[in-house]
Amino acid sequence: MGNPKGFLEYARKDNEERNPKKRINDWNEYTERHDEKELKQQGARCMDCGTPFCHTGMEWGRSSIGCPINNLIPEWNELVHQGKWKQALDRLELTNNFPEFTGRVCPAPCEGSCVLGINDDPVTIKSIENEIIERGFENGWILPEPPSSRTGKRVAIVGSGPAGLTAADELNKAGHLVTIFEREDRPGGLLMYGIPNMKLEKKTIERRIELLEKEGIEFKVNTEIGVDVSREELQNEYDAVVICTGAQQPRDIPIEERNSEGIHFAMEYLTESTKSLNSKNEPSISAEGKDVIVIGGGDTGADCVATALRQKCKSVVQFGKHPELPKERTGDNPWPHTPMTFSLEYAYEEAYKQFKKDPREYEILTQSFKGGADGKVSSLRTMQVKKENKNGELVTVEIPGTEKDWNAQLVLIAIGFTGPEKEILEHFNLKVTERGLVWTEKATYKTNVEGVFAAGDARRGQSLVVWAIREGREAAKEVHDYLMSSKLSAISV
Ligand SMILES: Cc1cc2nc3c(=O)[nH]c(=O)nc-3n(C[C@H](O)[C@H](O)[C@H](O)COP(=O)(O)OP(=O)(O)OC[C@H]3O[C@@H](n4cnc5c(N)ncnc54)[C@H](O)[C@@H]3O)c2cc1C
Ligand code: SF4
Repeated sequence: MGNPKGFLEYARKDNEERNPKKRINDWNEYTERHDEKELKQQGARCMDCGTPFCHTGMEWGRSSIGCPINNLIPEWNELVHQGKWKQALDRLELTNNFPEFTGRVCPAPCEGSCVLGINDDPVTIKSIENEIIERGFENGWILPEPPSSRTGKRVAIVGSGPAGLTAADELNKAGHLVTIFEREDRPGGLLMYGIPNMKLEKKTIERRIELLEKEGIEFKVNTEIGVDVSREELQNEYDAVVICTGAQQPRDIPIEERNSEGIHFAMEYLTESTKSLNSKNEPSISAEGKDVIVIGGGDTGADCVATALRQKCKSVVQFGKHPELPKERTGDNPWPHTPMTFSLEYAYEEAYKQFKKDPREYEILTQSFKGGADGKVSSLRTMQVKKENKNGELVTVEIPGTEKDWNAQLVLIAIGFTGPEKEILEHFNLKVTERGLVWTEKATYKTNVEGVFAAGDARRGQSLVVWAIREGREAAKEVHDYLMSSKLSAISV
């Protein structure tokens, strides 16, 4: 530990963010990078605790503790403090296949479990992680490393999101020949079409895909398994198949006039927006000049708010059914759990600066849509709700007399996902859980079909990029064992 008093001498400093009023005029990432001196000081804040919690990676009830991929955080914090960037990169790459993704978009459960966070601000782990990998690319330390020999085994990965990419990377490194099938025109899953550019510029994904290709992974895009290629064809040509198709079946609101024009699922909107930026064409769904209402108070909804602002909407409001989060942790959300506290995330700060108002409306339920004679949505009606304890159970009840009409020419439904799409599961005859997720044998990622494995959101439900990476790593280890029928220490999870 280079500076045992670092946490006393330096305050936490988050990455600077670009001016919200200006950045909504472009689609570039909204954060800026720290300089070397600042990073060394931020690294020095790490206390190198006897029992660090930041890297535990445990699920605990409905929450999780620490980094799900067990990143060796105190070790690389110290190396960054000493300016040993290459060694920090070597440590980081031991546990994380794609730090450039998590360093940008991870909500950093590690920071919520940082011991310093008990009575001070936690260490800025995420931005240090991002800086280590970016310096790795800038210094030319990250080069294609194809395996020195091949096993002759062939693996098909269905879906190119973070789970599929990770499984492919691990299996390729272990010497297997890997092909990724992706129905979209570009690989990346929700990293490409879902998470918008201002959080993750697409050139970052393309840089990694290029590297994976040079290492020997084959990408077959515009290829939907179950439509363009059948299960039988895959099973004839490959020794194992890994289903990493995500959980993108959207939850709907089956209420009056839902079919009016101008009401879309958030994912249709976000995908269309990114595709239009990639192709430099006008998006077919645009918020320009419109009153936009986003239904759903989560992160997907926030990404819709930020996208609508960049498309020059007239106004934007986001509805959530829960109350505003508290400023501080409450008794039932203690450290080291991920803090459930109020924050002014990037999209809300932008909306606040643009319209002088936080776009979030809390404890509100949409009751009906109203369309005009032209079939286009023109407004919607809401009602305030509250939680009430009924016979020991918390239930949502409507508050009479709180009905309100809102103008809207574009409505985006972002109330979550019900699970993986059924078609691919039926095509493979896969057993599903009560929640409609792909069933796998506990801890082995094996489905009920011989030689077919599953990982990522398809198996665990909508989650986080970092959990998809963990699942990809663990599933790869199981696939490798299945193919070789012996453990290989080269794959470490
Ligand atoms: C709008 C949005 C924003 C998010 N923001 C964040 C964030 O900031 N931070 C974070 O950590 N997490 C975020 N998440 C969650 C995160 O993106 C997911 O948990 C993660 O991408 C899941 O990875 P995956 O590989 O399991 O599946 P996905 O990323 O969903 O990828 C699945 C892929 O499979 C393909 N596919 C499906 N069926 C077939 C088929 N039959 N044949 C071929 N290909 C097929 C799909 O086209 C897709 O590309 C966000 C999610 C959404 C929706
Ligand atoms: S991957 Fe996420 S949880 Fe893990 S160290 Fe990075 S920011 Fe923290």
